[in-house]
Amino acid sequence: MVKIGVLGLQGAVQEHVRTVEACGAKATVVKRVEQLDELDGLILPGGESTTMRRLIDKYGFFDALRRFGQSGKPIFGTCAGLILLAKELDGQPDAHLQLIDIKAARNAFGRQKESFEAEIELKGIADSFNAVFIRAPYILETGDNVDVIATYEDKIVAAQQDHYLTCAFHPELTDDYRLTQHFVHMVEDSVKKLASF
Ligand code: GLN
Repeated sequence: MVKIGVLGLQGAVQEHVRTVEACGAKATVVKRVEQLDELDGLILPGGESTTMRRLIDKYGFFDALRRFGQSGKPIFGTCAGLILLAKELDGQPDAHLQLIDIKAARNAFGRQKESFEAEIELKGIADSFNAVFIRAPYILETGDNVDVIATYEDKIVAAQQDHYLTCAFHPELTDDYRLTQHFVHMVEDSVKKLASF
C-alpha cells in the first residue's frame, strides 16, 4: 500500500486523509519536514495559499517540498495547492514552489461565483464529475508538456505534467473519489518506476 502525505499546516486536511484512505492508500498528516522522507506522494490541500506559504517558510518546508517533487515523487495540489505548485502567478512577481509549468490566477471566478458546483469532464478519468469550487483559481496558460484535464466555461481547472497533478476545485469534499484515485495510481506507478532505478 502506498503512503501519501497531506500537508497539514492549514486548510482542508482531514477531508483529503479520508479520501486517500477510501482509495486504498495509507494517508498521513504531515506537520514536520522529516515526515516527507517516509512518503511516496504528497497532497497540498486547499485553504489559503498566502497563509500556507507563510507556514511553509516558518516550519522550514520550502526547499524540502521542492526536493520532494524534483526527486520524482508525485504531488497533487488542490485549489490553494495548485497556486503553491504553479510556476507563475498572475499579477504576482514571485510564485511559490514553481514545480508545474502553469500560470495561475487566484480567486479568478469573481465575486458572484465565490463558491459553486459544476459538472465537468475529467479527460480520461470521468465523463461527468461534480466539482466544488471555493474562491477558486484557474489556469491561464500551460507549458508544452502540460496536459489539460478539465475546463469549465473555457477556463482550465485541472492539469497534469508528469508526476504533478493540479485542480482548482475540491475533490476531497464529495464522495466521488475518481480524481484522487487517479493520483493514487500515479503514486503507485512512480513507486515502481523509482524502484527500478
Ligand atoms: N483563494 C484561495 C487562495 O488564494 C484558494 C481557495 C481554496 O483553496 N479554496 O489561496
